[in-house]
Amino acid sequence: MKLLLLATWILLLFGCEDNQEKNLSGSADTSKQKFEWKMVTTWPKNYPGLGLGAENFANKVEAMSAGRLKIKVFGAGQLVPAFEVFDAVSQGTAEMGHGAAYYWTGKSKAAAFFTAIPFGLNAQEMSSWIHYGGGLELWRELYEEFNLVPFAAGNTGVQMTGWFNKEIKSIEDIKGLRMRTPGLGGDVITRAGGIAVTISGGELYTAMQTGVIDALEWVGPYNDLAFGFHQIAKYYYYPGWSEPGPALELLVNKDAFETLPEDLKAIVETAARAVNQDVLDEYTARNNEALVSLIEEHGVQLKKLPDDVVRELRRISEEIIEEIASDSEIARRIANSIQSFQKQAAAYHAISEEAYYEARRK
Ligand code: CA
Repeated sequence: MKLLLLATWILLLFGCEDNQEKNLSGSADTSKQKFEWKMVTTWPKNYPGLGLGAENFANKVEAMSAGRLKIKVFGAGQLVPAFEVFDAVSQGTAEMGHGAAYYWTGKSKAAAFFTAIPFGLNAQEMSSWIHYGGGLELWRELYEEFNLVPFAAGNTGVQMTGWFNKEIKSIEDIKGLRMRTPGLGGDVITRAGGIAVTISGGELYTAMQTGVIDALEWVGPYNDLAFGFHQIAKYYYYPGWSEPGPALELLVNKDAFETLPEDLKAIVETAARAVNQDVLDEYTARNNEALVSLIEEHGVQLKKLPDDVVRELRRISEEIIEEIASDSEIARRIANSIQSFQKQAAAYHAISEEAYYEARRK
């Protein structure tokens, strides 16, 4: 009898412990569930800055989730070609993607607004608009019909005008020029009389070398040095009017995202936010040293676009942005949101950032 009582007591105790475990962990099912996801990217595998940003994101998520969410990162062309990332994630071929929204203007013209607007927001302002100015909500609304949840996940800072083999002395020199420039910058080049071409990063060197294109813009010193564009082009022009603070994009398939428990969703969001800043920090540090190397070791000729060329490009940019804004109700709302944010940011930055840069030079 005593033995029977003891056995019952032990059973009860174990049963209780089991229940307690479940209660303490909230939901016993999801807290132990493991996910193995694929991430397709528009960048070459492990490419400096851009590709490493995606890699870094995956590593952070795995570490923060103690291995409950593992993400395998694929470079462009490994699972799907660079420009099929959007469809692959939308359709669930991969749960995640990393790239830039302006590659998807074929899906929605307003997508370009979420990378960069020529003469628009810089990196600091772009991130601020996305996270505190209503940008993210508009981005999610735009991608809703594609079954995608977007996040900001990196920024390169101000880019360069790009690489040329002839000097740009007036707007006439853009005429007939076949230049790789994606997004709205490309639209501006085309309207200025050039021929804008969109080619993924990994194919640029050969395209320029074989004369498929006459000029190109990619990113800035750090990335451009890595691709060796100084070997095939003479002049390196600035300023980066077309991409003043381009946001990189993390895409998540909406159905897949909904299957994640709340803590893993928060980890994805937090890792994206961390990488968003981390990529910019890396670019800022590496661009500085890469520019010195391009000029001093590789003899690159650094040139500034003439003021009247910049003014004409800005006039055309405003025209094009207005046309896209008129294209749909949501495009209008996005454009209005960015433009009113930029107006405020410009007024404040005139007496903060700009005034400070000026003071530092004196
Ligand atoms: Ca670029």
